[in-house]
Amino acid sequence: MPTQQAATAALDSAFSIRLTTRLANLLLGSDSLQRLTLALLGLAALVTATVVALLVYAASIGVADVRLVKVMTVLFIASAAGFYIVIRSGLNQRFNDPTLAMPQTIIAQTLIAAAYAITGPVHGATVIMLSLVMVFGMFSLRPMAVRLACIYTVTLMGIVMYWCAGHQPLHYPARQEIFNFALTAIVMLAISQLSGQLTDMRTRLKTQKIALEGALSHIKEMAARDELTGLPNRRRMMTLLQEHATRHARGGPRFFVCIIDLDHFKNINDTYGHAAGDSVLRAFATQAQVVLRTTDMIGRWGGEEFLLLLPETPPGGPALGVERLRESLAAIPASHSLPEVRVRFSAGFARYEDGEPIDQAIERADRALYAAKSAGRNRSVIL
Ligand code: GH3
Ligand code: MG
Ligand code: MG
Repeated sequence: MPTQQAATAALDSAFSIRLTTRLANLLLGSDSLQRLTLALLGLAALVTATVVALLVYAASIGVADVRLVKVMTVLFIASAAGFYIVIRSGLNQRFNDPTLAMPQTIIAQTLIAAAYAITGPVHGATVIMLSLVMVFGMFSLRPMAVRLACIYTVTLMGIVMYWCAGHQPLHYPARQEIFNFALTAIVMLAISQLSGQLTDMRTRLKTQKIALEGALSHIKEMAARDELTGLPNRRRMMTLLQEHATRHARGGPRFFVCIIDLDHFKNINDTYGHAAGDSVLRAFATQAQVVLRTTDMIGRWGGEEFLLLLPETPPGGPALGVERLRESLAAIPASHSLPEVRVRFSAGFARYEDGEPIDQAIERADRALYAAKSAGRNRSVIL
């Protein structure tokens, strides 16, 4: 049966994924930073393996001392295993640089230098490994550390090449050694230089990232606020309403939606001008924020309309805070420039009912507002 086959295949693949994950957890641990450190060690181990392969090859064609090759192979494997144990056990966390990049680099370069000395006619191949180790180091080490590791490599290789040219001139002719030394020195110099540039580039990227994050959060803030009053705008209020509806569906508190519309606002504009109207809207927003509870959220819905989200209604009913706002507005000027004018408003309330779309509650609040206007304004109606 094809469906049964598909089910078996799906089970098999799920099983193999689980097995791979478990194996990866066992080998690399679950900490992501430690995993990264082990991944770097894996790359270093790859270089090690290549050098070991070269050593074995040299021994197999009879140009390297088998005993020395055995010792070197053990040393290579022991160093990789040693670093693995230190990292996997978490001991590396006690060091300033838990990646242990510097000791790894220095040990790798020392072992490669030793391999250079015992691989006779095929020793040239190890030089490239020195560069490869430094290239890996460049991504984990600070430029100063890279420079030090490069100086160490050039000095060490100078000594090794001098010794080889003196003791095994047949396979290490002096001229060739001078050429190899010059090559190593130039490559190390180039890597030191590049490492500095890499760090500069990283610093620049980091600065740009911080600046971009700052700009993004500023843009997000601007996109959620009304420019005139500084209150959350319609879009932000809509998001908040949706969030509260979702929270209520999961057992969160009930809430009321209230729409406030300033009464005869057009008269203020017509009589005192649009700028005066703006200052009245700003003063209203400030006063509402002062008088309403901190849990009540108010936003500009549009024009001279405001939307309130009132969670957890107090025992006195949902309109308590709004009535307090009405009283306070009756006692203060509509704005600094209009000492004689008082702001009045009508308000429509709707209780959010279980599971209804939020638009439905808003529409009821709108109808309640209309009823408040029809009944003579300057009042609240709850639907
Ligand atoms: P009602 O009591 O029925 O609500 O009467 P109203 O005059 O308040 O209502 P209407 O809808 O007739 O007029 C609203 C006015 O609000 C008209 C519009 O020019 C003004 N308005 C809308 N947005 C702004 C704004 O950002 N600044 C200013 N100054 N006025 C605005
Ligand atoms: Mg209106
Ligand atoms: Mg109005």
